[in-house]
Amino acid sequence: MDEAIGVYIHLPFCARKCAYCDFTSFAGEEARIEEYVKTVCREARAQAALFGRRLVATIYLGGGTPSLLTGAQARALLDALRACFDVAPDAEITMEANPGTLTPAKLCAYREAGVNRLSLGVQSLDDGLLAAIGRIHTAAQAREAARMAREAGFGNVNLDLMAGLPGQTPRLWEETLAEAASLPCAHLSCYALIVEEGTPLAARVASGACALPDEDALAEMDEITERIARRAGFARYEVSNYARPGFACRHNLTYWECRPYLGLGLAAHSDMDGRRFYNASDWAAYARQACGAQPREAEGDGSAAERRFERLMMGLRMLRGVDEARFHRDFGGAVADFYPKTVREMTALGMLEREGGYMRLTARGMQVMNAVLVAFLQENS
Ligand code: SF4
Repeated sequence: MDEAIGVYIHLPFCARKCAYCDFTSFAGEEARIEEYVKTVCREARAQAALFGRRLVATIYLGGGTPSLLTGAQARALLDALRACFDVAPDAEITMEANPGTLTPAKLCAYREAGVNRLSLGVQSLDDGLLAAIGRIHTAAQAREAARMAREAGFGNVNLDLMAGLPGQTPRLWEETLAEAASLPCAHLSCYALIVEEGTPLAARVASGACALPDEDALAEMDEITERIARRAGFARYEVSNYARPGFACRHNLTYWECRPYLGLGLAAHSDMDGRRFYNASDWAAYARQACGAQPREAEGDGSAAERRFERLMMGLRMLRGVDEARFHRDFGGAVADFYPKTVREMTALGMLEREGGYMRLTARGMQVMNAVLVAFLQENS
């Protein structure tokens, strides 16, 4: 039987671009949403005809700002998926939402459409920092959004937070995190800011108009994250993700475990039946792909070596690590058969360990994850 899949739908609409953002998303294009939803529904039907009526275990509406959609538009997307795939009765259905775009009525409509997990882009609970990075909402709106979500019946809410913002001190990070952990939520994603080239923030940093926290401050913020999250009952299960028991994000685990997923919408990526491909990021080309009139670009070379490395690169992000039996079954050998030198050296250095059928990074290894991955990559062949 085919393995269950995750479905990602990209909604590339934002009220305004944040200063740090280089995602495929556009401000001022809301007039396109209605037509875009129809195009994505068409694409879902075309991909189901190609890949079959697959069991769908998770759906993720990401962006962009999916909460710019009306309840009816969200329902249209989810109904289209239910019509052409077997969406599991217990499927995890996540929607990303910007606190500046929510109302109680909208949240109820999303719930009624089938959304059962909400991921709120809070980023910070400090108004000065929110303004500095160009978010459209205030800290009060973020707090209110978490409360409205609970009122609307969402028992599975994630808060996205960012550490390392310009002007952010460890104390400000601690205040945000401690307060966020006390809001009604079951999951915290704590990402470190990456200053992407070409963004307004990168220009401001380059010109000296704003300063980022130094390495010592970032290390202190890391330590604060672990401490505050643990104390509030959230366990770290991935480099940047913390959950209350039973609330790990099943959709993101699909990516980290390298299981199949179908991406729908502008610039969405897919990994289906051993083939990785992605959609165009311009409207007209994507519309042609959605109706089957234009092929999609392949991603990667599809070789076994590439797949093996990807399994390690993604799997070692999780605290439990890489499932060794599954690795052996899929690649015909153990991790140590393909990477004998790296496994030997990293184990001797106390960076890598094996337990309960999993190979994982130790706490020390997690701190230097990139260096460990570079060693695996160099031995990859
Ligand atoms: S809301 Fe999200 S996707 Fe939109 S501009 Fe801001 S960071 Fe980017």
